[in-house]
Amino acid sequence: MTEQQDSVRVRFAPSPTGPFHIGGARTALFNWLFARHHGGKFILRIEDTDRKRYDPDSLRLLLDGLRWLGLDWDEGPEVGGPYGPYFQSERLHLYQYWANWLVEQGHAYRCYCSEERLEALRQQQLAAKQDPGYDRHCRNLTPEERARLHQETGGQFVIRFKMPLDGETTVHDLLRGDITFDNRQLQDLVLLKSDGYPTYHLANVVDDHLMAISHILRAEEWISTAPIHKHLYDAFGWEMPQIAHLPVILNPSGKGKLSKRSVAFSEGGRKIPVLVHEFIEGGYLPEAVVNFLTNIGWSFGDDREVFTVQETIERFDLSRVNPAGGAFPIEKLDWLNGVYIREMADDELARRLLPVFEKAGYPVDLERMRRVVPLIKVRIKTLNDALDMAGFFFTPSFTPPPAEEIVQKGMDAASTKAALQAAADRLAGLPDFSAKAQEEALRALAAELGLKTGQLFGALRAATTGQQVSPPLFETMEVLGREEALKRIRRAIAQL
Ligand code: GLU
Repeated sequence: MTEQQDSVRVRFAPSPTGPFHIGGARTALFNWLFARHHGGKFILRIEDTDRKRYDPDSLRLLLDGLRWLGLDWDEGPEVGGPYGPYFQSERLHLYQYWANWLVEQGHAYRCYCSEERLEALRQQQLAAKQDPGYDRHCRNLTPEERARLHQETGGQFVIRFKMPLDGETTVHDLLRGDITFDNRQLQDLVLLKSDGYPTYHLANVVDDHLMAISHILRAEEWISTAPIHKHLYDAFGWEMPQIAHLPVILNPSGKGKLSKRSVAFSEGGRKIPVLVHEFIEGGYLPEAVVNFLTNIGWSFGDDREVFTVQETIERFDLSRVNPAGGAFPIEKLDWLNGVYIREMADDELARRLLPVFEKAGYPVDLERMRRVVPLIKVRIKTLNDALDMAGFFFTPSFTPPPAEEIVQKGMDAASTKAALQAAADRLAGLPDFSAKAQEEALRALAAELGLKTGQLFGALRAATTGQQVSPPLFETMEVLGREEALKRIRRAIAQL
């Protein structure tokens, strides 16, 4: 079979056990791109059978994160679909049915071993320097023994799979070729627990089959389960979907797997976001994050690093996925984010900045934001940078900074006061308050007062923006409007 199929159906199958990690987002993205490229279906399945590790917040973070990234799912939570339910916790009867079917067919067996026995066995094996593992005690029970244990335990058992005892298993990975495993390394693992919940292996295989999944694209960490799943498919008599294990994402240094939690790296002590909500809150654009993630492990070709998601869909295939791990170059993302911001239409950028400012407590309006955007667009890398750069535009009762920040080099309070007063008079008298008119008037004024333009403009910048660095001064004052600019200058004068 080739990668090309009439009905490509791929799934992203996260376990809701914690926040949505960027590694998971990359797995989801590659599945989504593969589905969209082949005109297939992208299915979202929630693998929520581990009740101990279930985290109620994680589903919301996951769905919000996928939506933010633009990875819409064709079947799954909220949208439903013909193969539902898409929460494994609502499919327990299916796993129970198929686990029992395997027992009936002689591929699996009931194991009555108690926790205590398994723990004692483990200790023994460790003491004897053997690899711990189940000793298959219940695999060959006589019917009488089984009946006795059933009675003794009150019918408490797990269902274990009968792994082959020798031989080899070869799994074909679409990225890595054939991978061969020694069957003697495989355990008779539990398929169904005593509480009727399935383990990952059973639920995952049953669902991939029942949901008609054609290709499994999953994280590299699952490679060791591939032979287990292969045996399960064989026992069921089902065809195993084609499978590819995606390359692992490494820390920015290239050393070690990308951390599970955001960390401050020694290089600059910067906190590296690794959770999807941290990218959202950090002011990154989803299109930049998608572009960035696409570049980890896949290459567009033509030496291009910046491309739209539409272009990626057209080109995406597995032949350009590199199975070797790829680092997480966060500075690349900052750069890319800046590129996307600069390329974005002003109006769109204004619309995206509004919620960021609102969240930070600024009373913003779209009209003013539209006028601010051209002044800051080339100066910011993230949406959050705009808060530092342009928050002063939206501060309702702006207070000027302390005198020492207004008084420029080579000046004192009295000369600054006089200069600001003269500037205010000039600005008040301008027939129009355009940046151009302001500049002409104020350059002339600086010359008249014997000041360097940097001194006069620096004092005005501090007075009107409260910052040493700001968008261009005259455009800034134009957007502030004459009344507000003069109000700010006069307040600064009063403070000197
Ligand atoms: N539930 C597994 C996870 O959390 C799915 C692995 C797979 O894709 O098979 O990653």
